[in-house]
Amino acid sequence: MTDFTTYLQQANLIGGAWVGADSGTTIDVTNPATGEVIGTVPNCGTDETNRAIAAASDAFKSFSRTDLMTRVKLLHGLHDALMDNQASLALLLTTEQGKPLFEAMGEIAISAAYVRWFAEEVRRAKGEIVPAPTNDRRLLVTRHPVGVVGAITPWNFPSSMLARKLAPALAAGCTVIAKPATATPYSGLAWGKLCEEVGYPAGVVNVVTGSARQIGGAIMDSPDVRKVTFTGSTEIGKTLIRQSADTVKKVSMELGGNAPFIVFDDADLDAAVQGAMIAKFRNMGQTCVCTNRFYVQAGIHDAFVEKLKEAVAALVVGNGIEDGVQQGPMIDMAAVEKVEEFIADAVSKGGKIVEGGKRHGNGGTYFEPTVVTGATADMAFATEEIFGPLAAVFSFDTEEEAIAAANDTDFGLAAYAYTKDVGRVFRLNDGLQYGLIGINSGLITTVEAPFGGLKESGMGKEGGSQGLDDYLSTKYVCVAGLL
Ligand code: NAP
Repeated sequence: MTDFTTYLQQANLIGGAWVGADSGTTIDVTNPATGEVIGTVPNCGTDETNRAIAAASDAFKSFSRTDLMTRVKLLHGLHDALMDNQASLALLLTTEQGKPLFEAMGEIAISAAYVRWFAEEVRRAKGEIVPAPTNDRRLLVTRHPVGVVGAITPWNFPSSMLARKLAPALAAGCTVIAKPATATPYSGLAWGKLCEEVGYPAGVVNVVTGSARQIGGAIMDSPDVRKVTFTGSTEIGKTLIRQSADTVKKVSMELGGNAPFIVFDDADLDAAVQGAMIAKFRNMGQTCVCTNRFYVQAGIHDAFVEKLKEAVAALVVGNGIEDGVQQGPMIDMAAVEKVEEFIADAVSKGGKIVEGGKRHGNGGTYFEPTVVTGATADMAFATEEIFGPLAAVFSFDTEEEAIAAANDTDFGLAAYAYTKDVGRVFRLNDGLQYGLIGINSGLITTVEAPFGGLKESGMGKEGGSQGLDDYLSTKYVCVAGLL
């Protein structure tokens, strides 16, 4: 029988040892579906993190020089270990995070797919021989692991967000200090256990839980950490970018979003509603690429709202481990209150609740999947990330108007559009200031493509061939005096 405790690690991995906090203090981890405490994790801080950095620095000396095929083999082993334990890892993920089990199974599968992708991609991490201006020289461009990496991840995808960092780092020959989110630490700690089991040497992967400020501070302060990769809110991302200046670290930032979803009159209505449901309600609306704003052209607006409303009303809300559940609880009460504030703000400015709108009868942090129509640019969700199961529907008349409204935000992560007009597809590609654009699809994340935002949604890419670049530094060697 599947058991979520198979990979439940209640200690931290530092330098190859599973340890508690120096202070002996711990933090409770709660199941958002039931409110029950699942277990505890160490409440570590600066000293433990500095030891993890020292272990990673030491391990880097040899790991960065391991044969390419040794690293590739380790990654394939990690991929297989993830898939062999998919059911128990997914159950652990749902238990700490709340998403429905089928989504958690998908998250473990894509995590493993990232590992395999980078095992394949690193074999093509080529340098260059550049034509020299004179015959007595040869100019070589070579690529090397960037060094010790700090990886800080959010609670909404506690496995796959780490996969996108750990896999390219390990492929490149880097060593890592990972800091999972406090709400969902076990999926990150499980990666530590899996890496240990498949044979990564001590110190190559370290996982530290506890005070974000202290762990983050130690990572940012250390001159030995050469790269920091962060997924989380724009606010914390900006703090880390500032902190990176003192040691001039390489940073990649996967930050917040405010995705527009534009439905044109010529769209396939059923396909648009189906895409809308995925783009809005996956993980209870708690994904960085979740639709924040639906823009629907006047001619199709009422029909779209009617069908969206029906689909939203049919969503099954409950504990994610139960069969048939499509919407679990929200991560915590603060998230519930934030959605309530967005709804109250919209209603006070003329918005109309056409479906849901309040806490769910299940109690706890369950919230009714909600649709609000009559949305306008002065409502808070027009500019702020909702991060909850609330669909806000705006109406528009022209393509130019829709593109301008879609771009009227500091964010630039994902945008979606439904249309059958091929010319418009390319106008949207030119006009939308977004790093990811889904045309006639509400789900576009895949390991083969570069994932990452523009504007205040971040910098750097994860996945694709670009996903390895951030973990490699480039050297130029001029060999002179050859004639
Ligand atoms: P968050 O509050 O920014 O936290 C993210 C991580 O940063 C957590 O591990 C957190 O630790 C840590 N952290 C907090 N304060 C820190 C500090 N001062 N120094 C160093 N680390 C610190 O974000 P979240 O609420 O977990 O995640 C939701 C956000 O992530 C949303 O904005 C979402 O859009 C974004 N996101 C973006 C992407 C993307 O690919 N662009 C993907 C997923 C999510 P604690 O948990 O201990 O506070």
